[in-house]
Amino acid sequence: MATIDGLPPLREVMAAHDLIAKRQLGQNFLLDLNLTAKIARSAGDLTACDVLEVGPGPGGLTRGLLVEGARHVVAVEKDPRCIPALEEISAVYPGRLTVLQGDALDIDTTALLKSPVRVIANLPYNVGTELLIRWLTPAIWPPFWTSLTLMFQREVAERITAKPRTEHYGRLALLVHWRCDARIVLTLPPEAFTPVPKVHSAVVHLTRLEAPRYPADEKTLLRITAQAFGQRRKMLRSSLKGLLPDLEAALESVGIPPTARAEEIGLEAFCALARLVKG
Ligand code: SAM
Repeated sequence: MATIDGLPPLREVMAAHDLIAKRQLGQNFLLDLNLTAKIARSAGDLTACDVLEVGPGPGGLTRGLLVEGARHVVAVEKDPRCIPALEEISAVYPGRLTVLQGDALDIDTTALLKSPVRVIANLPYNVGTELLIRWLTPAIWPPFWTSLTLMFQREVAERITAKPRTEHYGRLALLVHWRCDARIVLTLPPEAFTPVPKVHSAVVHLTRLEAPRYPADEKTLLRITAQAFGQRRKMLRSSLKGLLPDLEAALESVGIPPTARAEEIGLEAFCALARLVKG
């Protein structure tokens, strides 16, 4: 069967390289190239961008990125079994695909990427949130990337994009909203993947803000929100005890009723509180 890029269909690639999915590496592959091209398009125009892809696996999304015109893709894959299949793609797109074998948590790819950089990945579920938090909390802001387009389990995608006073709202949504515009751009049923996972998935698109939405010291904001959301359903006047000498007055001065709970409070008020703490 003809494919959109003339390379063999992904099922043939997997059979040729004996790629049987490993659960411990979070391997649920996308084998429909029309779908991977659609995910690539959901990230915006790629033609003048470098792309960092984490976990390319047999290369379904990688091929989507290249078909959609990405200038240069740097793909980091932990599983050495996938590398020969990825090298075959690289041979068809000379100079446009760099494949690195290793753990994305350890490899620094920034020297290989030219601005503007988009990060686009169907992330392994076991390291997805950790990578997202790292991308959101670099040593200096703005970071090396301009957008993140990431596949997560749907529940995680909802936690990333949640609004205050909704079921999934918490620290992750707050951190994301502080530094990005974020929305779910695509939801996928389990059957879109091989092997079929138990849960639905969703693609989240995050665009960085040039400066955080409200001023606040990052460490202070993270500390306060850890304290506040660490004891969900507890009133802030007790979960934040000891934060400031007259906590109730401080909360009121930034518009937070002392009886409020963390999940009822928006980003702006948390940032104002962080500024009071940091002085
Ligand atoms: N991108 C492919 C696709 O859409 O079909 C595969 C996605 S699969 C959900 C996740 C991929 O991440 C797997 O290929 C897995 O081997 C790889 N992976 C798992 N942990 C990793 C890590 N720490 N660093 C880099 N790749 C990792």
